[in-house]
Amino acid sequence: MTVTVAATCTACGACLATCPERALLRAPRRPAVIDALCTDCLACLEVCPVDAIVPVPPPVHPIEEASYRIMAERVDLSAWDGGDRDVVARMVHATADESFAGTARIGERAVDAAVAALAAEAPVVCDARMVMAGIPSVAGAVCLLDEVPDAPPGDTRSAAAIRLAAKRYPDDALWVFGNAPTALFALLELHAAGALRPAAVVGLPVGYVGAAESKEALWSGRLRPVAITNSGVRGGSPAAAGAVNALARLARAGRTST
Ligand code: SF4
Ligand code: SF4
Repeated sequence: MTVTVAATCTACGACLATCPERALLRAPRRPAVIDALCTDCLACLEVCPVDAIVPVPPPVHPIEEASYRIMAERVDLSAWDGGDRDVVARMVHATADESFAGTARIGERAVDAAVAALAAEAPVVCDARMVMAGIPSVAGAVCLLDEVPDAPPGDTRSAAAIRLAAKRYPDDALWVFGNAPTALFALLELHAAGALRPAAVVGLPVGYVGAAESKEALWSGRLRPVAITNSGVRGGSPAAAGAVNALARLARAGRTST
């Protein structure tokens, strides 16, 4: 993404002095943006007194465009609105698993809360490196699995990494689970004990052992209003990363669930 300067610019020059990359050049009517230098920091947008600077969304890749077109012919997303629909569509798009259109569950505040967390550059704690690898544009993403070389007695490495992350990021992080049911159960336990206050939770563990149960526990518990999850055994890192990428796109566009 880069920015563009609208005709409402009064040529006050405030943005020129603010840009850390010297990506704005003085020009006769209004500043010109050098796209190759712009790092999308949006500092210029903050200082403009007349809101003349507008973010330009990145162009959609032709393959992505074709993929969404085919998906629209095959998948009925009419049960979903606004940002919720964007999230479910991205989960289907990332996995080609059309069942998410029917099994996804999104709490009433989940998209707004997650988008706000991403816009505020809150930490994004992932249960697996595969989830992190799928969200390269999210600067605050972390996975602490490498800091837990061995599973503690009676626990899994994934759950222990979440317990460690809870100490480091107790408040307002976005938590993302695409792999381990035990990690999601650990988060629910920590939340119930008052040790953790997530901004939102993307809970999409996959598999035959515990995945459906962990997601059911998320959806039937106190975190439901800020939960993005699904029912059943399907899920996985691509689906979780897809959901986060949709949320990140909404955050960049300044949109929420409406
Ligand atoms: S978004 Fe940041 S880098 Fe780009 S023009 Fe504005 S201030 Fe400069
Ligand atoms: S801060 Fe806004 S009004 Fe001033 S020069 Fe930049 S774009 Fe124009």
